[in-house]
Amino acid sequence: MKKDITETVIKLLASPQKVVIVGHKNPDGDAVGSCLGLSFFLKSLGHSPNVIMPNDFPDFLKWLPGCEDIVIYEKEVEKSKELFEKADLIFTLDFNSLDRVGGELQTILENATAKFVMIDHHQQPAEYAVATYSDVKMSSTSEMVYHFMDALGETSKLSKEIAINLYTGIMTDTGSFRFASSSPTTHRVAAKLIEAGAESAIINQNVYDTNSPDRMKLLGVALNNLVILPELHTAYITMTQKELDDNNFKKGDTEGFVNYALSVKGVVFAIIFIENKQESIVKISLRSKGDFSVNDFARNHYSGGGHINAAGGKSSQDLNKTINEFISILPRYKNELTDAL
Ligand code: 5GP
Ligand code: MN
Repeated sequence: MKKDITETVIKLLASPQKVVIVGHKNPDGDAVGSCLGLSFFLKSLGHSPNVIMPNDFPDFLKWLPGCEDIVIYEKEVEKSKELFEKADLIFTLDFNSLDRVGGELQTILENATAKFVMIDHHQQPAEYAVATYSDVKMSSTSEMVYHFMDALGETSKLSKEIAINLYTGIMTDTGSFRFASSSPTTHRVAAKLIEAGAESAIINQNVYDTNSPDRMKLLGVALNNLVILPELHTAYITMTQKELDDNNFKKGDTEGFVNYALSVKGVVFAIIFIENKQESIVKISLRSKGDFSVNDFARNHYSGGGHINAAGGKSSQDLNKTINEFISILPRYKNELTDAL
Protein backbone atom coordinates (compact mmCIF):
# COMPACT_ATOMS: atom_id res chain seq x y z
CA MET A 1 0.00 0.00 0.00
CA LYS A 2 1.39 3.42 -1.00
CA LYS A 3 2.64 5.73 1.73
CA ASP A 4 0.20 8.57 1.07
CA ILE A 5 -2.76 6.17 1.20
CA THR A 6 -1.45 4.67 4.44
CA GLU A 7 -1.14 8.15 5.95
CA THR A 8 -4.69 9.05 4.88
CA VAL A 9 -6.05 5.84 6.39
CA ILE A 10 -4.14 6.33 9.65
CA LYS A 11 -5.70 9.80 9.97
CA LEU A 12 -9.17 8.47 9.19
CA LEU A 13 -8.78 5.81 11.87
CA ALA A 14 -7.17 8.08 14.48
CA SER A 15 -10.28 8.02 16.69
CA PRO A 16 -12.98 5.33 17.10
CA GLN A 17 -15.13 5.26 13.95
CA LYS A 18 -18.50 3.85 13.00
CA VAL A 19 -17.71 1.87 9.90
CA VAL A 20 -19.80 0.10 7.28
CA ILE A 21 -17.98 -2.46 5.13
CA VAL A 22 -19.67 -3.33 1.83
CA GLY A 23 -18.97 -6.14 -0.64
CA HIS A 24 -20.29 -6.63 -4.17
CA LYS A 25 -23.58 -8.14 -5.33
CA ASN A 26 -23.60 -11.94 -5.39
CA PRO A 27 -20.74 -11.99 -2.89
CA ASP A 28 -18.09 -14.66 -3.40
CA GLY A 29 -15.48 -16.10 -1.04
CA ASP A 30 -13.17 -13.16 -1.47
CA ALA A 31 -15.89 -10.55 -0.93
CA VAL A 32 -17.17 -12.23 2.24
CA GLY A 33 -13.72 -13.24 3.55
CA SER A 34 -12.16 -9.82 3.02
CA CYS A 35 -15.11 -7.93 4.54
CA LEU A 36 -15.25 -10.16 7.63
CA GLY A 37 -11.47 -10.16 8.02
CA LEU A 38 -11.39 -6.36 7.87
CA SER A 39 -14.33 -6.16 10.27
CA PHE A 40 -12.54 -8.22 12.95
CA PHE A 41 -9.41 -6.16 12.39
CA LEU A 42 -11.17 -2.79 12.76
CA LYS A 43 -12.94 -4.08 15.87
CA SER A 44 -9.57 -5.01 17.37
CA LEU A 45 -8.49 -1.39 16.83
CA GLY A 46 -11.50 -0.11 18.79
CA HIS A 47 -13.80 0.83 15.89
CA SER A 48 -17.41 -0.24 15.40
CA PRO A 49 -17.72 -2.02 12.06
CA ASN A 50 -20.73 -3.64 10.40
CA VAL A 51 -20.63 -5.72 7.22
CA ILE A 52 -23.45 -5.18 4.70
CA MET A 53 -23.83 -7.35 1.59
CA PRO A 54 -26.25 -6.37 -1.22
CA ASN A 55 -27.76 -9.88 -1.31
CA ASP A 56 -27.26 -13.28 0.25
CA PHE A 57 -24.00 -15.23 -0.02
CA PRO A 58 -23.57 -18.94 -0.85
CA ASP A 59 -24.10 -21.67 1.76
CA PHE A 60 -20.52 -22.92 1.37
CA LEU A 61 -19.42 -19.74 3.17
CA LYS A 62 -21.96 -19.93 5.97
CA TRP A 63 -19.47 -21.23 8.50
CA LEU A 64 -17.03 -18.31 8.32
CA PRO A 65 -16.37 -16.70 11.70
CA GLY A 66 -18.60 -13.64 12.05
CA CYS A 67 -20.82 -14.46 9.05
CA GLU A 68 -23.94 -14.61 11.25
CA ASP A 69 -23.61 -10.86 11.86
CA ILE A 70 -23.57 -9.89 8.18
CA VAL A 71 -26.51 -7.64 7.30
CA ILE A 72 -28.06 -8.61 3.95
CA TYR A 73 -29.38 -5.39 2.42
CA GLU A 74 -32.18 -7.15 0.46
CA LYS A 75 -33.50 -8.68 3.67
CA GLU A 76 -32.87 -5.78 6.06
CA VAL A 77 -33.34 -2.55 4.16
CA GLU A 78 -34.22 -0.32 7.13
CA LYS A 79 -31.41 -1.58 9.33
CA SER A 80 -28.95 -1.13 6.46
CA LYS A 81 -30.11 2.42 5.79
CA GLU A 82 -29.70 3.30 9.45
CA LEU A 83 -26.18 1.89 9.53
CA PHE A 84 -25.24 3.92 6.44
CA GLU A 85 -26.74 7.08 7.92
CA LYS A 86 -24.76 6.72 11.13
CA ALA A 87 -21.49 5.68 9.46
CA ASP A 88 -18.39 7.88 9.66
CA LEU A 89 -16.57 5.69 7.15
CA ILE A 90 -17.60 3.30 4.39
CA PHE A 91 -15.12 0.68 3.22
CA THR A 92 -15.95 -0.85 -0.17
CA LEU A 93 -14.21 -4.16 -0.76
CA ASP A 94 -13.64 -6.38 -3.79
CA PHE A 95 -15.32 -4.15 -6.36
CA ASN A 96 -14.18 -1.27 -8.53
CA SER A 97 -17.28 0.81 -9.12
CA LEU A 98 -20.52 1.44 -7.27
CA ASP A 99 -22.66 -0.19 -9.98
CA ARG A 100 -21.26 -3.53 -8.77
CA VAL A 101 -23.58 -3.39 -5.75
CA GLY A 102 -26.57 -2.57 -7.95
CA GLY A 103 -30.12 -1.44 -7.25
CA GLU A 104 -31.17 0.86 -4.45
CA LEU A 105 -28.00 0.21 -2.49
CA GLN A 106 -26.01 1.83 -5.29
CA THR A 107 -28.07 5.02 -4.90
CA ILE A 108 -27.56 4.95 -1.12
CA LEU A 109 -23.80 4.71 -1.63
CA GLU A 110 -23.78 7.44 -4.28
CA ASN A 111 -25.59 9.79 -1.89
CA ALA A 112 -23.73 8.82 1.28
CA THR A 113 -21.96 11.62 3.14
CA ALA A 114 -19.48 9.35 4.92
CA LYS A 115 -15.92 9.12 3.58
CA PHE A 116 -15.06 6.10 1.47
CA VAL A 117 -12.06 3.80 1.51
CA MET A 118 -11.69 1.33 -1.36
CA ILE A 119 -9.70 -1.90 -1.16
CA ASP A 120 -9.88 -3.81 -4.43
CA HIS A 121 -7.97 -5.72 -7.09
CA HIS A 122 -10.23 -5.25 -10.14
CA GLN A 123 -9.21 -3.28 -13.21
CA GLN A 124 -10.22 0.36 -13.76
CA PRO A 125 -11.09 1.52 -10.21
CA ALA A 126 -13.65 4.34 -10.07
CA GLU A 127 -12.73 7.46 -8.13
CA TYR A 128 -15.09 7.90 -5.23
CA ALA A 129 -12.90 7.18 -2.22
CA VAL A 130 -10.64 9.46 -0.15
CA ALA A 131 -8.27 6.50 0.03
CA THR A 132 -8.14 4.09 -2.90
CA TYR A 133 -6.00 1.02 -2.30
CA SER A 134 -6.26 -0.62 -5.71
CA ASP A 135 -3.80 -3.16 -7.09
CA VAL A 136 -4.79 -5.33 -10.05
CA LYS A 137 -1.75 -7.55 -9.54
CA MET A 138 -3.10 -8.79 -6.21
CA SER A 139 -4.49 -12.32 -5.98
CA SER A 140 -7.47 -11.20 -3.96
CA THR A 141 -8.90 -8.44 -1.85
CA SER A 142 -8.36 -10.71 1.14
CA GLU A 143 -4.61 -10.69 0.51
CA MET A 144 -4.83 -6.89 0.31
CA VAL A 145 -6.51 -6.72 3.72
CA TYR A 146 -3.45 -8.48 5.15
CA HIS A 147 -1.16 -5.92 3.43
CA PHE A 148 -3.45 -3.18 4.75
CA MET A 149 -2.92 -4.44 8.31
CA ASP A 150 0.81 -4.65 7.63
CA ALA A 151 0.95 -1.10 6.26
CA LEU A 152 -0.71 0.15 9.46
CA GLY A 153 1.91 -1.76 11.49
CA GLU A 154 -0.78 -3.88 13.09
CA THR A 155 -0.10 -7.49 12.05
CA SER A 156 0.09 -8.34 15.76
CA LYS A 157 -3.72 -8.02 15.68
CA LEU A 158 -3.93 -11.03 13.33
CA SER A 159 -6.38 -13.33 15.12
CA LYS A 160 -7.64 -16.77 14.21
CA GLU A 161 -10.94 -15.24 13.02
CA ILE A 162 -9.14 -12.82 10.72
CA ALA A 163 -6.80 -15.54 9.46
CA ILE A 164 -9.61 -17.98 8.59
CA ASN A 165 -11.59 -15.32 6.72
CA LEU A 166 -8.62 -14.01 4.76
CA TYR A 167 -7.31 -17.48 3.94
CA THR A 168 -10.73 -18.47 2.60
CA GLY A 169 -10.86 -15.36 0.42
CA ILE A 170 -7.38 -15.95 -1.00
CA MET A 171 -7.99 -19.67 -1.54
CA THR A 172 -11.29 -19.19 -3.39
CA ASP A 173 -10.11 -16.25 -5.53
CA THR A 174 -6.95 -18.04 -6.65
CA GLY A 175 -8.70 -21.34 -7.47
CA SER A 176 -6.74 -22.90 -4.59
CA PHE A 177 -3.49 -21.11 -5.49
CA ARG A 178 -3.65 -22.21 -9.15
CA PHE A 179 -4.12 -18.96 -11.03
CA ALA A 180 -1.25 -16.80 -12.27
CA SER A 181 -2.28 -14.18 -9.71
CA SER A 182 -0.88 -16.32 -6.84
CA SER A 183 2.49 -14.70 -6.30
CA PRO A 184 5.28 -15.70 -3.94
CA THR A 185 3.91 -12.98 -1.65
CA THR A 186 0.45 -14.56 -1.80
CA HIS A 187 1.96 -17.79 -0.52
CA ARG A 188 3.91 -15.96 2.19
CA VAL A 189 0.72 -14.27 3.36
CA ALA A 190 -1.09 -17.64 3.28
CA ALA A 191 1.69 -19.12 5.43
CA LYS A 192 1.25 -16.36 8.02
CA LEU A 193 -2.49 -16.95 8.04
CA ILE A 194 -1.96 -20.67 8.61
CA GLU A 195 0.43 -19.86 11.46
CA ALA A 196 -2.26 -17.62 12.95
CA GLY A 197 -4.77 -20.46 13.01
CA ALA A 198 -6.26 -20.87 9.52
CA GLU A 199 -6.37 -24.64 9.12
CA SER A 200 -6.04 -25.20 5.40
CA ALA A 201 -7.42 -28.76 5.31
CA ILE A 202 -10.52 -27.81 7.28
CA ILE A 203 -11.13 -24.66 5.23
CA ASN A 204 -10.83 -26.69 2.01
CA GLN A 205 -13.32 -29.23 3.34
CA ASN A 206 -15.77 -26.56 4.47
CA VAL A 207 -15.69 -24.80 1.09
CA TYR A 208 -15.27 -27.60 -1.43
CA ASP A 209 -16.67 -30.77 0.14
CA THR A 210 -20.19 -29.58 0.75
CA ASN A 211 -21.75 -30.45 -2.60
CA SER A 212 -25.42 -31.36 -2.50
CA PRO A 213 -26.66 -34.25 -4.67
CA ASP A 214 -28.65 -31.64 -6.65
CA ARG A 215 -25.52 -29.68 -7.41
CA MET A 216 -23.70 -32.79 -8.63
CA LYS A 217 -26.63 -33.57 -10.96
CA LEU A 218 -26.60 -30.00 -12.22
CA LEU A 219 -22.87 -30.33 -12.90
CA GLY A 220 -23.68 -33.43 -14.97
CA VAL A 221 -26.11 -31.36 -17.03
CA ALA A 222 -23.53 -28.61 -17.44
CA LEU A 223 -20.84 -31.03 -18.63
CA ASN A 224 -23.32 -32.58 -21.06
CA ASN A 225 -23.96 -29.12 -22.49
CA LEU A 226 -20.25 -28.37 -22.93
CA VAL A 227 -19.37 -27.30 -26.48
CA ILE A 228 -15.73 -27.25 -27.57
CA LEU A 229 -14.54 -25.14 -30.49
CA PRO A 230 -10.98 -26.47 -30.94
CA GLU A 231 -10.00 -24.09 -33.76
CA LEU A 232 -10.87 -21.12 -31.57
CA HIS A 233 -9.39 -22.65 -28.38
CA THR A 234 -12.74 -21.98 -26.75
CA ALA A 235 -15.23 -24.02 -24.75
CA TYR A 236 -18.64 -22.89 -23.56
CA ILE A 237 -21.44 -24.18 -21.36
CA THR A 238 -25.11 -23.20 -21.42
CA MET A 239 -27.67 -23.63 -18.65
CA THR A 240 -31.35 -22.97 -19.24
CA GLN A 241 -33.69 -21.85 -16.48
CA LYS A 242 -35.52 -25.19 -16.88
CA GLU A 243 -32.33 -27.16 -16.30
CA LEU A 244 -31.71 -25.12 -13.16
CA ASP A 245 -35.29 -25.57 -11.93
CA ASP A 246 -35.28 -29.33 -12.66
CA ASN A 247 -32.27 -29.70 -10.37
CA ASN A 248 -33.50 -27.48 -7.54
CA PHE A 249 -30.92 -24.82 -8.28
CA LYS A 250 -29.71 -22.90 -5.26
CA LYS A 251 -27.56 -19.79 -5.28
CA GLY A 252 -23.91 -20.69 -5.74
CA ASP A 253 -24.62 -24.09 -7.31
CA THR A 254 -23.11 -23.11 -10.67
CA GLU A 255 -20.04 -21.49 -9.08
CA GLY A 256 -16.90 -23.00 -10.62
CA PHE A 257 -18.65 -24.85 -13.45
CA VAL A 258 -16.89 -22.64 -15.99
CA ASN A 259 -13.53 -23.96 -14.77
CA TYR A 260 -14.37 -27.42 -16.17
CA ALA A 261 -14.61 -25.84 -19.62
CA LEU A 262 -11.23 -24.18 -19.08
CA SER A 263 -9.69 -27.50 -18.03
CA VAL A 264 -10.09 -28.98 -21.53
CA LYS A 265 -6.71 -29.43 -23.19
CA GLY A 266 -5.95 -26.63 -25.65
CA VAL A 267 -8.73 -24.35 -24.39
CA VAL A 268 -7.67 -20.81 -23.46
CA PHE A 269 -11.13 -19.22 -23.29
CA ALA A 270 -14.05 -20.68 -21.31
CA ILE A 271 -17.47 -19.15 -20.86
CA ILE A 272 -20.73 -20.15 -19.22
CA PHE A 273 -24.14 -18.69 -20.07
CA ILE A 274 -26.74 -19.06 -17.33
CA GLU A 275 -30.33 -18.13 -18.06
CA ASN A 276 -32.04 -16.09 -15.33
CA LYS A 277 -35.71 -15.67 -16.22
CA GLN A 278 -36.50 -13.77 -13.03
CA GLU A 279 -34.06 -10.98 -13.90
CA SER A 280 -34.64 -11.40 -17.68
CA ILE A 281 -30.92 -11.72 -18.24
CA VAL A 282 -28.31 -14.29 -19.12
CA LYS A 283 -25.56 -14.20 -16.48
CA ILE A 284 -22.17 -14.81 -18.01
CA SER A 285 -18.91 -15.95 -16.42
CA LEU A 286 -15.69 -15.89 -18.41
CA ARG A 287 -12.30 -17.41 -17.74
CA SER A 288 -9.08 -17.52 -19.74
CA LYS A 289 -5.45 -18.53 -19.74
CA GLY A 290 -2.43 -16.44 -20.70
CA ASP A 291 -2.84 -13.07 -22.42
CA PHE A 292 -6.42 -13.40 -23.63
CA SER A 293 -8.28 -10.72 -21.67
CA VAL A 294 -11.77 -11.73 -20.62
CA ASN A 295 -11.99 -8.39 -18.82
CA ASP A 296 -11.90 -6.71 -22.25
CA PHE A 297 -14.27 -9.29 -23.74
CA ALA A 298 -16.80 -8.83 -20.92
CA ARG A 299 -16.55 -5.05 -21.15
CA ASN A 300 -16.94 -5.00 -24.94
CA HIS A 301 -19.83 -7.45 -25.22
CA TYR A 302 -21.50 -8.08 -21.87
CA SER A 303 -21.51 -4.79 -19.89
CA GLY A 304 -19.24 -6.44 -17.39
CA GLY A 305 -15.61 -6.69 -16.42
CA GLY A 306 -13.30 -8.22 -13.84
CA HIS A 307 -9.73 -9.35 -14.33
CA ILE A 308 -7.66 -10.46 -17.33
CA ASN A 309 -8.30 -14.16 -16.63
CA ALA A 310 -11.65 -14.05 -14.78
CA ALA A 311 -14.57 -11.79 -15.53
CA GLY A 312 -18.33 -11.64 -15.57
CA GLY A 313 -21.16 -9.83 -17.26
CA LYS A 314 -24.69 -10.21 -18.53
CA SER A 315 -26.80 -10.13 -21.66
CA SER A 316 -30.36 -8.88 -21.85
CA GLN A 317 -31.08 -10.89 -25.00
CA ASP A 318 -32.52 -14.39 -24.66
CA LEU A 319 -30.21 -17.36 -24.26
CA ASN A 320 -30.34 -18.46 -27.91
CA LYS A 321 -29.64 -15.01 -29.28
CA THR A 322 -26.83 -14.57 -26.76
CA ILE A 323 -25.17 -17.82 -27.87
CA ASN A 324 -25.65 -17.10 -31.59
CA GLU A 325 -24.14 -13.67 -31.17
CA PHE A 326 -21.23 -15.13 -29.21
CA ILE A 327 -20.54 -17.66 -31.97
CA SER A 328 -20.66 -14.93 -34.59
CA ILE A 329 -18.24 -12.56 -32.84
CA LEU A 330 -15.75 -15.15 -31.63
CA PRO A 331 -13.88 -15.70 -34.95
CA ARG A 332 -12.77 -12.04 -34.78
CA TYR A 333 -10.61 -13.05 -31.84
CA LYS A 334 -9.01 -16.03 -33.57
CA ASN A 335 -5.49 -14.59 -33.63
CA GLU A 336 -5.59 -13.46 -30.00
CA LEU A 337 -6.95 -16.86 -28.95
CA THR A 338 -4.29 -18.70 -30.90
CA ASP A 339 -1.46 -16.56 -29.50
CA ALA A 340 -2.69 -16.40 -25.90
CA LEU A 341 -0.20 -18.87 -24.49
P1 5GP B 1 -17.63 -14.66 -11.58
O1 5GP B 1 -17.59 -15.17 -12.98
O2 5GP B 1 -16.98 -15.60 -10.61
O3 5GP B 1 -19.00 -14.21 -11.17
O4 5GP B 1 -16.77 -13.35 -11.55
C1 5GP B 1 -15.44 -13.32 -12.01
C2 5GP B 1 -14.87 -11.96 -11.77
O5 5GP B 1 -15.55 -11.00 -12.57
C3 5GP B 1 -15.02 -11.49 -10.35
O6 5GP B 1 -13.85 -10.81 -10.00
C4 5GP B 1 -16.19 -10.55 -10.38
O7 5GP B 1 -16.08 -9.56 -9.42
C5 5GP B 1 -16.16 -10.00 -11.79
N1 5GP B 1 -17.53 -9.85 -12.28
C6 5GP B 1 -18.51 -10.78 -12.29
N2 5GP B 1 -19.65 -10.30 -12.83
C7 5GP B 1 -19.39 -9.02 -13.16
C8 5GP B 1 -20.18 -7.97 -13.75
O8 5GP B 1 -21.36 -8.12 -14.09
N3 5GP B 1 -19.55 -6.77 -13.93
C9 5GP B 1 -18.23 -6.57 -13.60
N4 5GP B 1 -17.69 -5.37 -13.82
N5 5GP B 1 -17.48 -7.52 -13.04
C10 5GP B 1 -18.02 -8.73 -12.83
MN1 MN C 1 -11.80 -10.82 -5.50
